[in-house]
Amino acid sequence: MQQVNSSHAKAPRRLDTLIIGAGFGGMYALHRTRNMGLDTHLIEAGDDVGGTWYWNRYPGARCDVMCIDYSYSFSDDIQQEWAWSEQFAAQPEILAYARFVADKLDLKRDISFNTRATSVRYDDERTLWRVQTDCGDVFEAKYCLMATGPLSVPKQLDLPGTSTFKGAIYLSGKWPHHDVDLKGKRVAVIGTGSSGIQIVPVVAEQAEHLYVYQRTPSFTLPMRNRKLEEDYVAHIKAHYPGLRKAARHSMTGGIRPITHRPLFSVTPAEREKLMEEAWQRGGSHFLGLFSDLLTNSEANEVVAEFVRGKIAEVVNDPDTARRLTPRGYPIFARRPCLDTGYYETYNRENVTLKDCLEHPIIEITENGIRTADGVVEVDVIIAAIGYDALTGAMLSIDIEGKEGRSLKDKWADGGRSHVGLMIEGFPNLFLISGPNGPSALANFILLAEQNVDWICDCIRHLDANGLRSIEADAGAENWWMNKVTTLGSMTLYPTANTWYTGANVPGKPRTFPVYVGGLGRYREICDDAAAQGYSGFTLK
Ligand code: NAP
Repeated sequence: MQQVNSSHAKAPRRLDTLIIGAGFGGMYALHRTRNMGLDTHLIEAGDDVGGTWYWNRYPGARCDVMCIDYSYSFSDDIQQEWAWSEQFAAQPEILAYARFVADKLDLKRDISFNTRATSVRYDDERTLWRVQTDCGDVFEAKYCLMATGPLSVPKQLDLPGTSTFKGAIYLSGKWPHHDVDLKGKRVAVIGTGSSGIQIVPVVAEQAEHLYVYQRTPSFTLPMRNRKLEEDYVAHIKAHYPGLRKAARHSMTGGIRPITHRPLFSVTPAEREKLMEEAWQRGGSHFLGLFSDLLTNSEANEVVAEFVRGKIAEVVNDPDTARRLTPRGYPIFARRPCLDTGYYETYNRENVTLKDCLEHPIIEITENGIRTADGVVEVDVIIAAIGYDALTGAMLSIDIEGKEGRSLKDKWADGGRSHVGLMIEGFPNLFLISGPNGPSALANFILLAEQNVDWICDCIRHLDANGLRSIEADAGAENWWMNKVTTLGSMTLYPTANTWYTGANVPGKPRTFPVYVGGLGRYREICDDAAAQGYSGFTLK
């Protein structure tokens, strides 16, 4: 962090709204607040827009939500002008889309790039947020919007000996901006979550040899991506209003059909047929097959067993197939992955699975990776080891609310907020895709649009009524947290060790800070609170 000498400190820039983060949430917040006539500005640590799609440039990076869902819905101009080329877009296309939107809305003139917030502190007397940055800039804003992202703080590879490694180490979530040539190299990939599963098939085609260090095997389903034909795109464009409306009120923020059919309501033969059809169709059809997959462990096990059978069908070596087969946690309680040729990759001569459940990594050496069965020499290590999710980005900034209350103390036992939008003790600080909303389980772009629209309506209400501040009530926050926990505990999600629960970060409190009631119901709850004069909040 750059220290700012007070005698040379820049004069604070006074604003109505400061937005932190130029991912899809922050970009939309900038557009909306500017159109409301507010004096607004955005700061972003990277040198371009795009957020997660700016940082995640690893080989094979692709969104596993269909792009007709995973794109802005607020502007018909944008959705009519932009044409997606594939059903599941690759990272370069999504980044190009973010840039296209930024140019179309002329966002960059109000963004300071290469600027990271270091402290965000509330001035009680002046009722404004004072934000310091690593460039020495100081902003003072009545409202502060945290669009810092739920998956934006990658875990660092901190295995013993990491600093002695003489080759190159790349983090999937901080991939370099220059070309990385892996041709003819011996490469290790550590981690087999969504990122690792996308990386492995692509790197296997380039590397001389690829060693995949797998700890917990993931369940992954075939993506079966396809190019989008012109007539399909035209059809979607003609029907966008209806599709978007359905998505906004759905569970996940997408147009995937859902069912009210419990698994055991159909015969074993019919189930098998449904699962096989969904497997062959690919994408996330599987997730919408039965209504009780995340509430009934026996139903869950039937589907898990079907997918396990597919691994055995695809992977030639029975021992490798056995090690790739997930056991001991419910399918879909870890975020489901969609892959392209993942299991097939293990049939290649140049790919070796290293089972870290049997032989954990002991250390990184100068030339490779040591486990109890020896050292494997490699030239490159790719760490796809996940994120300090949901709360990590907010806690990486020194945030102090009313009367100097620190967010770190407030969140010592896990992220707390009222409806994922505001935190008791932190007036006029708004969260976008914050913890305790449906974030981990919903389409981030549609959720961000809902959050930003609610926040902008709230700001308009405050300003129209000459009010200085809004703050979540302690009682309302307790009520919401109780609701989130109670609903979560009725599902299988909390039973798995995942970034959803914080179990992936040593020392992080284990909670399940995600609202499982779905985006549509969440929207109604937020709208109801606003309609009742912001019940659950104190306005001054
Ligand atoms: P992740 O799901 O948390 O997976 C991290 C992997 O690293 C796990 O397999 C973990 O094993 C492993 N790992 C961590 N430390 C290790 C160690 N010391 N030794 C061996 N293995 C180790 O992270 P991710 O793959 O980056 O995905 C995170 C989330 O980002 C996804 O769930 C998804 O929401 C999002 N994402 C989305 C897309 C997309 O297509 N839209 C693509 C990529 C990511 P354990 O499980 O045993 O800890």
